[in-house]
Amino acid sequence: MKLRSFAAIIALTLGGSAASAPVLAPPATPGPDVQPFVHIPAGRIAITHLRIIDGTGAAPVEDATLLIDGAKIGAVLPAGSAPPASYRVIDGTGETAMPGLVGMHNHLYYLQRPNLDAAGHFEQPVIIPQMTFSAPRLYLANGVTTMRTTGSVEPYTDLSLKREIDAGHLVGPHLDVTSPYLEGPGAFFIQNHQITSPDDARKEVAFWADMGVNSFKAYMHLTRAELGAAIKEAHRHKLKLTGHLCSVTYPEAVALGIDNLEHGFFVNTQLDPGKQPDKCTDTAGTPTLLKMTPGSPEANALIKLLVDHHVALTSTLPVFAQSVPLHEPLQPRQMDVLTPQAKEGYLFSRNLVSSRAGTPRGDQFTQAYKNDLGLERQFVAAGGLLMAGPDPTGNGGVIPGFGDQRELELLVEAGFTPVEAIRIGTLNGATYLGLADRIGSIAAGKNADLFIVNGNPAAKIDDVENVVVVFKDGVGYDSARLIRSVKGRFGEY
Ligand SMILES: [Zn+2]
Repeated sequence: MKLRSFAAIIALTLGGSAASAPVLAPPATPGPDVQPFVHIPAGRIAITHLRIIDGTGAAPVEDATLLIDGAKIGAVLPAGSAPPASYRVIDGTGETAMPGLVGMHNHLYYLQRPNLDAAGHFEQPVIIPQMTFSAPRLYLANGVTTMRTTGSVEPYTDLSLKREIDAGHLVGPHLDVTSPYLEGPGAFFIQNHQITSPDDARKEVAFWADMGVNSFKAYMHLTRAELGAAIKEAHRHKLKLTGHLCSVTYPEAVALGIDNLEHGFFVNTQLDPGKQPDKCTDTAGTPTLLKMTPGSPEANALIKLLVDHHVALTSTLPVFAQSVPLHEPLQPRQMDVLTPQAKEGYLFSRNLVSSRAGTPRGDQFTQAYKNDLGLERQFVAAGGLLMAGPDPTGNGGVIPGFGDQRELELLVEAGFTPVEAIRIGTLNGATYLGLADRIGSIAAGKNADLFIVNGNPAAKIDDVENVVVVFKDGVGYDSARLIRSVKGRFGEY
């Protein structure tokens, strides 16, 4: 009930800007460059003996038959039902269907730290390379059917990519194209406009709303007045704004009317020593997270504030796990998609992080990471809307699509049940986007955006990695073929 009323409020107040193309375009016929990846063409399809995890957090349905009617889910029939005549029957024995992932921090670029030295420094300027060729294929191959780009370094490219995917000319998920980073002086990379005043912030938001972005992202060095002006202008265009903040604390951003905060509780600076109003701290939130243990008065107050104001949080555990010494290395299947240079860059920075094992810096971050896991659980228990995304940045150890699966696994390590983690990665994102009536769960009448894996992720979450086929608008895409098509290329383009 709580979620439904939340979704209804969003649908009423934020119907989308007139200038932007909808996140879910009408289904398109796969064109010649998409066709090679189609495994099961759209039609009347009955997948039998299938386990279904519906995305609502409910227990799985065993031995069901899933009917797909063109671009829509026709029905979920209980065990023992015979598939209707005229349906193409596919045996799903041993397999599980899940809603397509709704990735809420899914960039279309990749960060390999250029010129990294032994101390972890690198030379300026930092330019972030775009992965328009490989990233959409990897996302779709790994079960992501809808994603928000959550900050762009090439906004025109991202808008063009969306147009081409929506027309059936290129393969990839449904895109919520986010604006370039709204950022003031002190930006980490050089590819964005530098905002200098509240009016400048308002103008940048108005411009990108007119260009057709679906959402906005504020970054680390804005003043409260600039962030407030940006939020106001985004809402005037009926679009939402999220932020990876630093200069503005979480409570300040809530007061300004922000819709969503990125990176769980990692980048809140409210208790950082020496925090000056409107200024980012060098520590960028770690001291606050160390003080804010789950269940502490500070944590309770912040979580109540976020829940009361319906501010959603995006969990991006894979990127933070990369800073925990001796974290799990990339799997061979992920190393295979990297260019040789990206592999080298990743291994270099992984060694650098692992060399901090047992040092105060390493131990401190490990503790901060643990606090965040507890706070994310507390936020959900208090009724907060938690969403999921991988954030393929950091030290290069988070790869599109694979990282979305890793996020679910890390949510389970954090203490969520597998079906709760899957809900966070599917229906919760759809709810935030105001699209929960069409995507985010498996139910009759919804869009046929779902994926099928070998095994049972409700019992063993790692089985989300065993993707067989990904349906988007009722077209089944071959996961392995998509991944093969970018082998050795991710990191280049
Ligand atoms: Zn990010």
